[in-house]
Amino acid sequence: MKPLLTLTGIIAMILLVLFLIANKQVSDNSNKPLAADTDYPIIQTADGVFYHQGIHQDATKDNIGAIGNMSFVVGDTCVAVIDSGGSYLEGVKLRHAVASQTDLPVCYVINTHTHPDHVFGNAAFKADNPQFVGHEKLAAAMQARQTPFERTFKALFEEDYDGIEFITPTLTVSIDTPLTIDLGNRPLTFTAYTTAHTDHDITVHDQKSNTFWTGDLLFMERIPVLDGNLTNWLKIMTQFQQADYDVVIPGHGTASADQWRSGLAKQQHYFETIRDEVREIIADFGTIQQAIEQVGLSEKDNWELFPQYHRRNVTATFTELEWE
Ligand SMILES: [Zn+2]
Repeated sequence: MKPLLTLTGIIAMILLVLFLIANKQVSDNSNKPLAADTDYPIIQTADGVFYHQGIHQDATKDNIGAIGNMSFVVGDTCVAVIDSGGSYLEGVKLRHAVASQTDLPVCYVINTHTHPDHVFGNAAFKADNPQFVGHEKLAAAMQARQTPFERTFKALFEEDYDGIEFITPTLTVSIDTPLTIDLGNRPLTFTAYTTAHTDHDITVHDQKSNTFWTGDLLFMERIPVLDGNLTNWLKIMTQFQQADYDVVIPGHGTASADQWRSGLAKQQHYFETIRDEVREIIADFGTIQQAIEQVGLSEKDNWELFPQYHRRNVTATFTELEWE
């Protein structure tokens, strides 16, 4: 009986070795998932540069407000997060995504502007004790909108609103005075703009990978939203067209090496169309109601969520141009 036991033992040993080899091959051959949460995929666009692409929907309890692009950049000493999520829950997912790539702490959380889809995840990074970075006018804008945002989003998210906090910036960027910080061998430059998409937009540039984050100064695929000044925004879009970036990560929609230029041209065309048609109506002493009914309808099939936001854009443009 002894030899048989030995044979059984040998077979068991061989099976174990085969099992271990097979498992090793599986783990070596499989593509490494880029995020801890499989329902929160992240895309790597350059060495140390990652983003999660939001879906083209309005914020709901089901999508936890994860409708914008959230990014992070890994330096030698720490990590910068660019926009924090549309809810505390999304912020937690983003923090997990960071942890899936590096053990380094998050030292900067940048809010490109105060719309809920870009700032509601801030509290998920409090344990890192980061600097919260924003435009010099971000704090005022956040405070002004806190009550209406709270009311709207508590009704929308119900118990999933828990954890959301309005955290104002600890490091601010002044208009036309770019600020550069360092993540360890990785300088990031923040630029603050005059009133455009909002009155407090900032962009981020990573010199190492020549990646540029537009915040919501650029929307790809999804209809852009005007909450500031159209004339200034169009000037900024012209500036962007002249720049040379290896990758552009918009506030919403696909990041790219080359498509962003045509996406930007499409956004310029949309707003120029609205501007020109609104001007005609104003010149004819037409009303804002006429503008809402008539302006920009040729753009209807060009954008996701057109019915939800187009009228608002026309209204804002009419109000801006009425007394020019
Ligand atoms: Zn947004």
